[in-house]
Amino acid sequence: MSSLDQFRQETREWLSKNCPESQRQPVKKNEIIWGGRRRKFPSVDAQLWFERMRDKGWIAPDWPKEYGGGNLSVDECKILEQEMRSLGCRPPLYDQGLWMFGPALLKYGSEDQKKEHLTKITQGEIRWCQGYSEPGAGSDLAGLKTKAEDCGDHFLVNGSKIWTTYADQADWIFCLVRTNTEVAKQQGISFLLIDMESEGVTTSPIELISGESEFCQTFFDNVKVPKENLVYEVDKGWEVAKEVLKHERKLISKLDHMTEKEDRSVMELAKEVIGLDSNGKLRNSSLRDQLTRHLMAEQADQLSGLRIFQQMRAGQPDPKLPLTMKYANTSEQQRKDELFLAILGNQGLTWQDEAFPKSYRTLVQNWAYNKSLTIAGGTSEIQLNIIAKRALGLPE
Ligand SMILES: Cc1cc2nc3c(=O)[nH]c(=O)nc-3n(C[C@H](O)[C@H](O)[C@H](O)COP(=O)(O)OP(=O)(O)OC[C@H]3O[C@@H](n4cnc5c(N)ncnc54)[C@H](O)[C@@H]3O)c2cc1C
Repeated sequence: MSSLDQFRQETREWLSKNCPESQRQPVKKNEIIWGGRRRKFPSVDAQLWFERMRDKGWIAPDWPKEYGGGNLSVDECKILEQEMRSLGCRPPLYDQGLWMFGPALLKYGSEDQKKEHLTKITQGEIRWCQGYSEPGAGSDLAGLKTKAEDCGDHFLVNGSKIWTTYADQADWIFCLVRTNTEVAKQQGISFLLIDMESEGVTTSPIELISGESEFCQTFFDNVKVPKENLVYEVDKGWEVAKEVLKHERKLISKLDHMTEKEDRSVMELAKEVIGLDSNGKLRNSSLRDQLTRHLMAEQADQLSGLRIFQQMRAGQPDPKLPLTMKYANTSEQQRKDELFLAILGNQGLTWQDEAFPKSYRTLVQNWAYNKSLTIAGGTSEIQLNIIAKRALGLPE
């Protein structure tokens, strides 16, 4: 048996033994385990699952052991992911530090910063949020204006960030700030880490159409940030920012867990609601065409994902193909949401009215929520610009 086969077998056995049955069901929003100073576990099983994975180093399986990671190779991580998926194991921890900031700190942070911050992430002790977007700087992120003034032993930060997901629940924020206005936009940005409990930091929740408020506007009013909280070099934060964005795809895949999953496939729903003709075909031929198109596109996306993984594994990563994935995956998800609604017809008009079946209302709610997928982490228009320029080499 190869060492990877052996790893697979041991992983499967360990997960079967250690993942409580209740943690093998699709996760609901109120059952998610977020880390942080105010960490609360939704159940005893959730806490057990978190602690077992933490002690095994599998909260961040690919990070080095000295920061609480698992030191697993690319292949071993893939096997762990596959085995967790096949048993239906929930992620043991949700945190933007884990998905986005941590991998960038591994590359750009000082040893002291890694020991301090990565370890607290893998132990679920600190919850992070992302301070990039500003009221006047979203797609044009490099136009950001939140200012950090050099005051000797500290920076003095003033300005505000917007759409900061869960800023009101986070303990620390990784933040882009302007440290130089004399140079080209991208060259005057620094990457700062700010404790949300610092004097002068406030958050104000933004209410969404659903009545929930996952976003905040975050204000910095004369906030003193110690110099040791600067990642990499002054005015070189854009490099770190881009590294974080490479990992933002993980965030997008986690956003998927913010919605309750449909309990049947689009095909099953079509058969149930539209029905089959005497030849066993879907009664509505136009919907049949759209469904076929969607199922083919979905499979093509999955195969592209596999191709990227195999290229990485072979040490020959294609720099262009991954650039297409965010646009491809999120637009296909939205086409699928539209199909669900087309199938439901007048059964798909509400997510609130309890006269409609719960499973149908969930589909409508997901349709609304998933609109955010083509905005978060760079809008589709920006993705298309990137694909045109960097993947296809088209002129500006
Ligand atoms: C669910 C979700 C979570 C988020 N979480 C965070 C977070 O935690 N932290 C954070 O900092 N931000 C967060 N954001 C903000 C997100 O990064 C921005 O919304 C996004 O970058 C777009 O910026 P904007 O909203 O300012 O839109 P704008 O940049 O104002 O864009 C408006 C429209 O113009 C189009 N457009 C803009 N420029 C171009 C161009 N050059 N070519 C073609 N079209 C263009 C856009 O595609 C869009 O349709 C989140 C957003 C969402 C939806």
